[in-house]
Amino acid sequence: MKNIMFIAPPAAGKGTQAELVVKKYHIPHISTGDILREISKEDSEIGKYVYETLQSGQLVKDDITYQLVENRLKKEDCKNGFIIDGFPRNIEQAYEYDKILNKLGYNIGNVILINVDKKILEKRITGRRTCENCNTIYNINDEDKAPKVDSICDICGGKLYQRSDDNLESFETRYEMYIEKTAPIIEHYKNVGALIEVNGNDSVENIFAKIDEVISK
Ligand code: AMP
Repeated sequence: MKNIMFIAPPAAGKGTQAELVVKKYHIPHISTGDILREISKEDSEIGKYVYETLQSGQLVKDDITYQLVENRLKKEDCKNGFIIDGFPRNIEQAYEYDKILNKLGYNIGNVILINVDKKILEKRITGRRTCENCNTIYNINDEDKAPKVDSICDICGGKLYQRSDDNLESFETRYEMYIEKTAPIIEHYKNVGALIEVNGNDSVENIFAKIDEVISK
């Protein structure tokens, strides 16, 4: 199995697509956002720093992300492929990621860019709900992705919550950050021939079909 990286603006559906890849290929999904959200709950100096940074929509310090990515990729379950999502977020992180991969003897694999129009993202961001138990993602603004019972996960019955950074104000900062910092990363992966662009304005099923076609090659 190949390694897969997702690059996408906030609320583009990369979490949902990652879940579908995990279900089909049984490889781990490594989301720096998820790991940082866990750290943000810790009652420590770093926990407080991460919590405040996530709330503001800014990026946490690069050094923190390097450590957590390398430690996670070293684990046995990554040996047969993994999905990395949310990292790298700027060109410095992309260069560091190349070094980490080299050190661990991994290839970059496929870099999948999911493009979505900003207006669609705004609608998705305010409707996104996540299961606090199994992390399944729903959207109350979209009939196809809404839970069957209000605020309850269809899969495990867990409670759904709204991420504290899923509001329009924080979205604006995160979106600007994406445009400004992520564009050079896209260029970097285009140059090394690893980039594949997918139209994320389409349905979940059609986007996954396209992604599946790429990764199963
Ligand atoms: P996400 O779940 O990917 O939307 O990430 C949520 C938040 O976590 C971001 O807005 C950042 O504050 C932080 N974050 C996630 N990944 C990174 C990263 N690679 N570098 C810096 N901050 C990150």
